[in-house]
Amino acid sequence: MLRLRVSAPAERFIRSGHPWVYSDSIVETNRVGDVGELAVVYNRDNKFMALGLHDPQSPIRLRVLHAGKPVKADREWWIARLQAAKDKRVPLFDKAQTNAWRWVSGENDGFPGLVIDRYADVLVMKLYSAVWLPRLSEVLDWVREVFAPTALVLRLSRNIQPIAKERWGLSEGCLVGSTENLVVFRENGIRFEAEVLQGQKTGFYLDQRDNRARVQDLAKGREVLNVFSFSGGFSLYAARGGARSVTDLDISKHALDSANRNFALNPWSAAVPHECVQGDAFEWIANGPRRSFDLIICDPPSLARREADREGAIRAYGTLAANCLRRLAPGGILVAASCSAHVSQGEFFDAVMNAADHAGPWKELWRSAHAPDHPATFAEAHYLKCIALQIEP
Ligand code: SAH
Repeated sequence: MLRLRVSAPAERFIRSGHPWVYSDSIVETNRVGDVGELAVVYNRDNKFMALGLHDPQSPIRLRVLHAGKPVKADREWWIARLQAAKDKRVPLFDKAQTNAWRWVSGENDGFPGLVIDRYADVLVMKLYSAVWLPRLSEVLDWVREVFAPTALVLRLSRNIQPIAKERWGLSEGCLVGSTENLVVFRENGIRFEAEVLQGQKTGFYLDQRDNRARVQDLAKGREVLNVFSFSGGFSLYAARGGARSVTDLDISKHALDSANRNFALNPWSAAVPHECVQGDAFEWIANGPRRSFDLIICDPPSLARREADREGAIRAYGTLAANCLRRLAPGGILVAASCSAHVSQGEFFDAVMNAADHAGPWKELWRSAHAPDHPATFAEAHYLKCIALQIEP
């Protein structure tokens, strides 16, 4: 067995339930470990502290699976863990209205770097860490046991695609059954497509489900602009909430084509004028046509991929919010979101509220985070933040 000893601060992190041990916190190993090997962390007194999956190529050297008393990570143990993730989600949804959600949310469900999303009858498993690659057949066995999928797609984050190919001959694609690239599902009774074989993330942004529903409640009678719209998720909710018109703004034609198809999937939405604008949203919001809106949703891609980007990202969120606020008609509402894990809730909300202070008197309507099928059990997992505020008429 691979045995590790870690620094005193790393021991404290492990005891507090944190799932990552960085390479520079490892002070002793009994040998060189391989990718995905089980490793045990022992404390100063040679007592078992934690069990994890080892990744010699990643700055996160150990992904902790369990801390506390010794355990045997056998098939039963893994299946119980997967079953627990499933049992947590089952009561969350009215299946007649919603048939897409996150079954497994990485570290937060004890499967570090592994996500499983469900879109109707298709499961999409996305690996963000190489530790699972040598264990893929085991993982599939557990998934079959707990979920009995008729179709399962494997997706790999870009950084692990080369090693997956070179060492295990693995690439993205359907591992169980078969599926089209576009899978139609329901979310709160609205029909959407997910691009499961090639799309962003696992094909759709399920984490914004509850925030989309909140936007529906704000939309009545309003002209709505959805900035960084992707496939029009927020837009369809706004349309159902009685928006006067909806405009999607995204740089990707591919995303806007999907937004148009999503509107077409919901015939009732034909009553609401829908327009797509393809362009750089930062530029369009700042200098585009002089046009104002009553409700603007602004949900950009992560602006801080690394810690070093944090301060620039906070400024960029502030500028985006300021430019959106300038386009709001009196009484208009801004819904601003950030999915950057490196920017904290406080930093993001302050950036947006600071921009609002310059735009005139305003009031906060609500703040929120991810939907409950995306639980966050440690600090870095709280990536999504969203705030709605209204400029006083
Ligand atoms: N709000 C969406 C998810 C947004 S994902 C939802 O709830 O589904 C981020 C989107 O920003 C992607 O669709 C991407 O194409 C788009 N994007 C990235 N850079 C952009 C830019 N500079 N201008 C406009 N859109 C951009």
